Amino acid sequence: MPSARPSTRTTRQRDEIHRVLTTAPGPLTVTEIHAQAQRDLPALGIATVYRTLKLLTDQGLIHPVMLDGETLYEASGRGHHHHFSCRRCGRVFTLQTCPVSLPRGTVFAGGFVVDAHELTLYGLCPDCAALPPA
Ligand SMILES: [Zn+2]
Ligand SMILES: [Zn+2]
Repeated sequence: MPSARPSTRTTRQRDEIHRVLTTAPGPLTVTEIHAQAQRDLPALGIATVYRTLKLLTDQGLIHPVMLDGETLYEASGRGHHHHFSCRRCGRVFTLQTCPVSLPRGTVFAGGFVVDAHELTLYGLCPDCAALPPA
């Protein structure tokens, strides 16, 4: 096989990082993305991960999520959803459900017209809920 051109390598890194995010059960930290992508690309450096995350964000394929002061990334196009943060293992999951019954256009006292909402749920993930109490 001829030596890989830089563009080929960049495409593989981009595809791999995008794959990690589309198959994850929720948004991931940069450290988690790096560790998971390294399983297939052992030589992948953290600087490349940051550069690739910016590229994928610019392309609209992923977007950053701020959670508890940390920046995580998730694949775009998952529709309306919420995040569940496990207090025990620290993993964040995407829940395709909405516990808020608040129709668009709801007006609160004082004239505040609601057109969106954001919330994070906290508790124990299924794995942690099955463990004996810490
Ligand atoms: Zn957990
Ligand atoms: Zn909602």
